[in-house]
This record gives sequence, C-alpha cells and structure tokens, in this order.
Amino acid sequence: MSQQYRSRPLGNGVALSEAYDTALLDLDGVVYAGGHAVVHAVESLGTAREGGMHLAYVTNNALRTPDAVAEHLTELGVPAEPADVITSAQAVARLMADQLPAGAKVLVVGGEGLRVALRERGLVPVESADDDPAAVAQGFGGPDLPWGRFAEAAYAITRGAVWFASNTDLTIPGARGIAPGNGAAVEVVRIATGAEPQVAGKPLPPMHRETVLRTGAKRPLVVGDRLDTDIEGAFNGGVDSLLVLTGVTDAAQLLAAGPRYRPTYVDRDLRGLLTGQPEVSEEDGGFRCGGWTAAVRGDALALEGEGDAIDGLRALCGAAWTYAGEGSCELDVAKAVAGLEL
Ligand SMILES: [Mg+2]
Repeated sequence: MSQQYRSRPLGNGVALSEAYDTALLDLDGVVYAGGHAVVHAVESLGTAREGGMHLAYVTNNALRTPDAVAEHLTELGVPAEPADVITSAQAVARLMADQLPAGAKVLVVGGEGLRVALRERGLVPVESADDDPAAVAQGFGGPDLPWGRFAEAAYAITRGAVWFASNTDLTIPGARGIAPGNGAAVEVVRIATGAEPQVAGKPLPPMHRETVLRTGAKRPLVVGDRLDTDIEGAFNGGVDSLLVLTGVTDAAQLLAAGPRYRPTYVDRDLRGLLTGQPEVSEEDGGFRCGGWTAAVRGDALALEGEGDAIDGLRALCGAAWTYAGEGSCELDVAKAVAGLEL
C-alpha cells in the first residue's frame, strides 16, 4: 500500500485510455445519475473502448445483479456484459466463502444481487434465524425491505452467526433526495446487537481485490466521483485514480482532501479519459497549470491567469495539497474557486 501523500495531480502526456489497460468505473455520478446518462459519458466511453481500453463498472450497490446493471447500462447507450459489472455483493460473497465451509447457510438481509452472489460462491441463502445460519450477509435491500429482516439478523448474530456487510455507504442519492443506504441499515443492526460486521465494499481492499480478479487488469485506473469511496479505494489498492466532477464532489472538497483522498488526475467528466493530462509545475512558490498560477497568500489560496478552468483547479490542488502536506488544507478557497467556471 502506498503511504506517500500526493502533492499535486499528475500530468500524463498520453491519453489515459492508452496509459491504462482497464478503467474501473464507478456508476452513480460517473456514468449515470437518476436514470440518465451523465453528460459526455456515452460517447467518451465508446471512444475509449474502440481505442482498446477495457471498461469495467464497479458499484457498492448490492441490490441489483450484474445482469440487471449491464442491461441498464446497455439501454443508456453504454454496451456492457454482466461480466463487466462488479458489485459489493460479489466482493462480500468471496470474503465469506474464504472463511465459511462450502455449503454454509447464510441469512440474507438484502436483495437478489446478494443472493445470486452467495450462490455463485457455493453458499446457501436462508431467510430465517431459525434456519441456523453460520453467517449473516447484509446488503442494500431497497425500499421494500421489511423491518423484520433486521430482527432476523439480530437474532442470528446474537446466536453466534458471523456478520458481514456488502458496504457501509450511509446514504443513497436519488431523484427525490437522499435516502438511507446500507450503512444506515447496518447501524440499525449494530445498535441492536453491539456486534461489528466485516465489510467488503469500497474503499476497502476486498472490493478492489474482487475487481482486479474479475477484470484481470494489469494497469487499472479507478474512475469515480466520491473521495471517500472511489478515490480512497484506489489509494488502498495502490492504483491510480481519476476524479470526475459530475457527481458528489465539488472543488472546495477536493482542495481540502487529505492524502488518501487525493486523486491522481482530475477532470470535469469522462472526456478526461481521452486526453493527456497537463503537468502541474512548481515555480517561485506557485503552482502552474495551463494558463493559471495558484499560490498561498496569507490564510487563503489565490489564483491568477486565464484559460481552461479545470487547469485552474489542478493548479489550486498543487498549492493546497503541498501546503497541507499529510494533513487537510484549511485555507480559505472560496474566492479562488468562485472565479472558476467549472
Ligand atoms: Mg458515485
């Protein structure tokens, strides 16, 4: 695992789709959002694929099967096979199969994606604590998951079943707002039992391991919109990452990121796969990228210049991350960021 802190986004003279053999793409906020494709996603992924880059889709959502996710992607204009989709359900099923005997009974609190993944690993989904399960697997169950499932989990865990969770994302953003995610459901069971689950999903290593095993990637690039799942997961896996600004992360959050949350590259959207990334260079105490120079002035970040706004943000990252070192940048960035039309 890399423990070095990153002081600025890297430049790369060739297109990222040529520099890396496989893109490990997060879905929500990267490829689609609220049932629609994200701007520039369809054509950018099409071009990257035609150029020979392998595309894989990596989601913490354990509810849907890879077949269902691939079908949804294909409908949106991003042709995908089930084998191109890796879910946290698959990662937790492998984690469980490594620890449980073949044919072990597993109480499922979750959806079809979790059941299919457990069967694939030779484990037997059951529905009641009275079925004497060896373990509990908890994944996102969607709006129709009955409260009684948490009671079954609590009974089984109290009787000695080993508890696993696909992921612990606290929230799921949707078209109508923020909904409780699997992490919130895990908290319900944790409060009732006092137990701690083993967790597989991003940013933890079992998810990255599952992704590399299934894709055979030699030189993967993680592509995501969330610093504390996608980018930290890449850091934990020791691989490079591209942050896109089409999802939940804004410029101020990126500038405040501590070392394990700093992406290798940053771009507006998935067009960033197809271009070389410019260098961020340090000179006279300032950081230059494109036509922009960023520097620390008092307790604020200052930005001067003109040109492509994303280069301004890259220059600001260089100044903020170098100033913060192994910590998190607490300089005032509002004025510098407000001047950029991102
Ligand atoms: Mg996302």
